[in-house]
Amino acid sequence: TNFAKYNINEGLEETLMIANNEIKYDAKVIKDMQYVPLTYAIVGEINQVLLNILINAVHAIKERGKNFKGIIKVTTRSDEKYVYCEIMDNGMGIKKEDQERIFTPFFTTKEVGLGTGLGMSIAYDIITNKHGGEISFISEYGMGTTFKIKIPIRKVDA
Ligand code: ADP
Ligand code: MG
Repeated sequence: TNFAKYNINEGLEETLMIANNEIKYDAKVIKDMQYVPLTYAIVGEINQVLLNILINAVHAIKERGKNFKGIIKVTTRSDEKYVYCEIMDNGMGIKKEDQERIFTPFFTTKEVGLGTGLGMSIAYDIITNKHGGEISFISEYGMGTTFKIKIPIRKVDA
C-alpha cells in the first residue's frame, strides 16, 4: 500500500506552514513537541487530518471576535505503542448538544460556503479505519477545544 514511515512532528511543521496564512493574524502557535518515533502512515492523509483540525481551530478563534488573543497549542509525545498528538485552541468551543455529532458527515455549524461538515468525519475515517488509531476531543463552550489523536507506532497488518 502507500504506507510509509512518518514523523508526526514533521507533519505538524509542514501543516502549520501551510496553514500559516490562515493562522498568523488570529492566533499564536505554541509548540510542545517531544522526540517521537516514526509511525507507519499514509503521509498525505495524516497531514490532511492535522490541517483540518488546525483550520477548525482558527475558525473557532475567529468566532471570539476581532481583538481576541487566540492560542493554538500543539503537543506530541509517545509511549512504547503509540504516538500522541494534541491540538488545543482557546476558540469558541463546541456546545454540549453538538458534541456527539462532530464526526458525523455533513455536520457543520458554519455558514453555507464556509464549511462542508466533512473535515472531521474524514479525519475519523483516516485515523481509526485506515491507521488503527483513535481520535477524540474535549471541549467546553466559551473556553476552547482540544483534539487528541493517537497513531500506532507499528501498523498491525504491516
Ligand atoms: P466544517 O469545518 O466544514 O464545519 P468539520 O467536520 O471540520 O466541518 O467540523 C464539524 C463541526 O465541528 C464544525 O462546524 C464546528 O461546529 C465543530 N468544530 C470542529 N472543530 C472545532 C473546534 N476546534 N472548535 C469549535 N468547534 C469545532
Ligand atoms: Mg473543518
